[in-house]
Amino acid sequence: MPDSRSGEPLERPSSTRSGLYDRFGRRLNYLRISLTDVCNLRCVYCMPEKMQFRPRRELMNDDELFFITRMMVSLGVEKIRLTGGEPTVRPNLVGIVRTIARFPGLRDLAITTNGLLLPQIAEPLARAGLNRVNISLDTLDPEKFRRITRWGDLHAVWAGIEAAEAAGLRPIKINAVVTRGFNEDEVVDLARLTLEREWEVRFIEVMPFGSEADFAQSVVVTSQETRRRIEEALGPLYEIPGHSPNDPARPYRLAGARGSIGFISTVSEPFCAGCNRLRLTADGTLRLCLLRDGELDVLTPLRRGANEEELRARILNAVYAKPWGHGLPEGEVPRLRLMSQIGG
Ligand code: SF4
Repeated sequence: MPDSRSGEPLERPSSTRSGLYDRFGRRLNYLRISLTDVCNLRCVYCMPEKMQFRPRRELMNDDELFFITRMMVSLGVEKIRLTGGEPTVRPNLVGIVRTIARFPGLRDLAITTNGLLLPQIAEPLARAGLNRVNISLDTLDPEKFRRITRWGDLHAVWAGIEAAEAAGLRPIKINAVVTRGFNEDEVVDLARLTLEREWEVRFIEVMPFGSEADFAQSVVVTSQETRRRIEEALGPLYEIPGHSPNDPARPYRLAGARGSIGFISTVSEPFCAGCNRLRLTADGTLRLCLLRDGELDVLTPLRRGANEEELRARILNAVYAKPWGHGLPEGEVPRLRLMSQIGG
């Protein structure tokens, strides 16, 4: 069995081995696809208020998206998460979900959304083959929500969560990015939601990207601090056994709670040893690590007529060279893209 703990590169695996592997023996079977860089909110830790979005012609059209995604699934991707910007603003989203959900070999199709448009599309997405949703929610205070998102309406997100539940998109996961000076004092209220609801509330350390990187690094709240705040107020958190090493969120439960609490500690406790993730950006590049700028442009050669065999070979080589982990401890901060241009 390859040793993926040491970080030491292994012999290049033979091409007969099915699946996408990197040089550390990690199997990359989870693809996060950014459908657009556009968003209908402007979260302060994610993008500037006056955001310049990419021209549509520079982004994958539906056929290009299907071609590259189908190829990735045939190379061994089994799980796909649709992200953005905000994926629900992408035209023809229901059609995109219906097509991708039918790719042979795909086991799971999910979406990460701010929830604002879910009341209109949760049902059609579920019928089209979507399995589950993660909804971004950093605060339960309508005024603070408006401040963090610059103009968002918290009630619309609530309506979105309820629409997702009614459509059977489960389990519901709530993603809360904890930002100092904005919502570190709210983690207890967010955690309390799990007492009555079967939701998984995940607290995410803010990550540095592009022009927002310096700000993001100045407002990090570690998972240790968030956990301490929750336990001081609500009692001990009990670890839920059977945590998958691929899952970035370590799961816990409060005594007697229906739901669970997860911590995604990319900055303070990196979990790269179990990384199984690749990202496809809306402009058609394969990003090998969320927090490193190394990418393979797939769309340009595709548009220039490269055939599938050539593209598969490039992808296999690029994935094999995936870096072990991020370089934040060494001060290496990704500068090429904002979070909204990667999709998290
Ligand atoms: S930082 Fe990079 S290597 Fe580490 S878990 Fe995230 S994507 Fe994987």
